[in-house]
Amino acid sequence: MELSISSEPPSHNLAENLAVEHEELKQLHEWKDWKWQLKNRITTLEQLKKLISLTPSEEEGIKRSKGRLAMAITPYFFSLIDKTNPNCPIRKQAIPRIEEFSISTHDMVDPCGEDNHSPVPGLVHRYPDRVLLLVTDACAMYCRYCTRRRMVGEELPPMSTEQFEAAYKYIKSKRSIRDVLISGGDPLMLKTEHLEYYLKRLRSISHIDIIRLGTRVPATLPMRIDKELCEMLKKYHPIYLSIHFSHPREITEYVKDACSMLSDAGIPLGSQTVLLKGINDKPSVMKKLMHELLRIRVRPYYIYQCDPVTGTGHFRTPVAVGINIIEKLRGHTSGYAVPTFVIDAPGGGGKIPVGPTYLISQAKDKVVLRNYQGEIFEYFEDCGG
Ligand code: SF4
Repeated sequence: MELSISSEPPSHNLAENLAVEHEELKQLHEWKDWKWQLKNRITTLEQLKKLISLTPSEEEGIKRSKGRLAMAITPYFFSLIDKTNPNCPIRKQAIPRIEEFSISTHDMVDPCGEDNHSPVPGLVHRYPDRVLLLVTDACAMYCRYCTRRRMVGEELPPMSTEQFEAAYKYIKSKRSIRDVLISGGDPLMLKTEHLEYYLKRLRSISHIDIIRLGTRVPATLPMRIDKELCEMLKKYHPIYLSIHFSHPREITEYVKDACSMLSDAGIPLGSQTVLLKGINDKPSVMKKLMHELLRIRVRPYYIYQCDPVTGTGHFRTPVAVGINIIEKLRGHTSGYAVPTFVIDAPGGGGKIPVGPTYLISQAKDKVVLRNYQGEIFEYFEDCGG
């Protein structure tokens, strides 16, 4: 089986079209065709230079980012960039910069220790009752802060049938596993029938309760969410989708339509957001993102402290920035709009929630608490008897 993405080079005059007639291009029938979007991704310095005035850091970053995590930007995602602003939050996520090639003291190639918790290739078993299945290394757009940059972006063939069957056998042999997260890369880069093959096989294991898909496609290639995909997914319920969003500007009409189709297919949608310096590290930006997500029926789920992955130091913030964001959300807005801020423990310790301290003290029969306004309250643990 093959990836749906095309290996053909992008159409040669797309860059010029994007530059001079962008609005017209968006009116084209092809604009809404996800295969056209993939085929026409912006992947070279020459293409990008025709579209946007690059900074020296970006030019050098693009030249050096070949192979793994090479640049690839869908015309759709590119259209969200403010071309006059080198600090545009969409641009910073998509265009490589020279800082990616600086290595900080605590940078790690595999910060979540996935490779050390892999009983068979492509399968990570780090928590007792769930596994992570990495089915492809391809994504629609390569986020410059990707935690899996060690293995993402070469666009190799997806997990082979033999590899999948070995993972299947492992999952089937462990009755404690009740939850499979299919990720990559991005599983929605696979052909629908290919993804269905995995889902069908996993659903044949009686002890699997839920199947989750981790994806950024609804944000970077929302046209991929079509009727055929939704009809297929709903045959394998309960299916959950964790969608990676970074900034409120990503919530467009296309994204809204994509998420509506998924929700209407009965798929609960949750968001995952990486905390990124200069992109979403202001409480006001994060609050707007969370509100926009709720409007399109996506429940804010996690904010991640940016992992110490090699070459991402320029995206990382102090942990206090994330805690302050939660402080500014909790109590100040709907509880549904407050995700959990987590640090994925370096080396493979799993997600550890961190947040403001509301429990001031704990004594026998009494706890002292503070509320979101800083007011202090006592709660007496009178449990009867
Ligand atoms: S979509 Fe996910 S896996 Fe792909 S580049 Fe972005 S962060 Fe990495």
